[in-house]
Amino acid sequence: MHNNISKNITQIEQERGNTQLVVVSKYRSLEELNEVYATGHRNFGENRVQELVDKYTQLPKDINWHVIGHLQTNKVKYIASFVHLIHSIDSLKLLKEVNKQAKKCDRVIPFLFQMHIADEETKFGLNKDELLAILESPVYQEMANVKCKGLMGMATNTDDDKQVAEEFQSLNTLFEKHKTGLGWDTLSMGMSGDYLLAVANGSTLIRVGSKIFN
Ligand SMILES: *Cc1c(COP(=O)(O)O)cnc(C)c1O
Repeated sequence: MHNNISKNITQIEQERGNTQLVVVSKYRSLEELNEVYATGHRNFGENRVQELVDKYTQLPKDINWHVIGHLQTNKVKYIASFVHLIHSIDSLKLLKEVNKQAKKCDRVIPFLFQMHIADEETKFGLNKDELLAILESPVYQEMANVKCKGLMGMATNTDDDKQVAEEFQSLNTLFEKHKTGLGWDTLSMGMSGDYLLAVANGSTLIRVGSKIFN
């Protein structure tokens, strides 16, 4: 039934250049995830904590689980022991909770700051000033159980390639400005509809779902 999965992955593998591919597995069945797993992929992205925990429990333990969707503070405790990378940190309050839960698990949790780059009201994310305020805050600087690896962003959902490219470029500029000083290595941008533009504009990690499973 899902015999396109490996074909689709092979195509994206050829197009992704040096970027890392996170397979966005939200809403997909264990059977479908197992099919992806069989192709050798180990990086999966989910945006709902309950679904993520269910899949983590039932699938092989060498999968790297990425949280890509909005994360509620009261849900952090369910994923703290195993999450590989949280892409969606958009407040100091949330980060404090991640730091606290990571400490309980005696580990350091890697994360990205989610930036608002789209021309849409509804999407989550920080603006540049909010990012700088967090980076400069003593509370943040004293957190020992979280490690920022870079930035994540979602472009506007539009057919206007020029606009999408500009949004990715602006995020890449911000990433480049800080990456050396802060030891960042991950710029998470690009989904099914726009990963080629993201790859062309500095992405180091693409998050692709529907293009693989449809
Ligand atoms: C669902 C989702 C994706 C993948 O979207 P597709 O268009 O299915 O590739 C990527 N990033 C985030 C944050 C998502 O919620």
